[in-house]
Amino acid sequence: MKTAVFPGSFDPFTTGHKNIVDRARGLFDKVIIAIGYNEHKHGFMSVEQRLDSIRSVYDGAEDVEAVSYTGLTVDLCRQKGAGFIIRGVRNTTDFDYERTLADVNRKISGIETVVFIADPEYSIVSSSMVRELMHNDYDVARFLPFDLEKCLHK
Ligand code: ADP
Repeated sequence: MKTAVFPGSFDPFTTGHKNIVDRARGLFDKVIIAIGYNEHKHGFMSVEQRLDSIRSVYDGAEDVEAVSYTGLTVDLCRQKGAGFIIRGVRNTTDFDYERTLADVNRKISGIETVVFIADPEYSIVSSSMVRELMHNDYDVARFLPFDLEKCLHK
């Protein structure tokens, strides 16, 4: 059984994130979307809202799970029996960051990172861009694979 963890902030989970998960499902038996959070930092969406929104996207799927965690991603991988970390890159800035992260994680744990190149259709999509548009009252529905209003007002 090949299990991979896809760690991130997912604040919010975007169509770009969904594209990575959907492509990863073709390579792994199980994909665990893992929301890394810091108890002292409140995001745009609460961790519970992020979990709900992701679960609403993969409702009923046996090969996709959503969890939250604190601490090191490699420790979560060990707990979950996952041998791989999934990440996505949109540009060279992402690439430089991901290369260092992947290198450190492999050195401390032996866990390999599988990096997906963003589909051009989604390469401009980022959680921070969605937050910025929302802050200025733009409709962001096209960038989100779930109903934001429902998740925020639950
Ligand atoms: P983090 O705070 O760990 O960067 P994010 O939630 O912003 O968390 O992103 C999680 C992962 O998804 C990162 O590897 C990021 O590069 C990748 N990612 C984000 N948006 C996209 C996108 N549109 N296409 C491909 N990968 C993406």
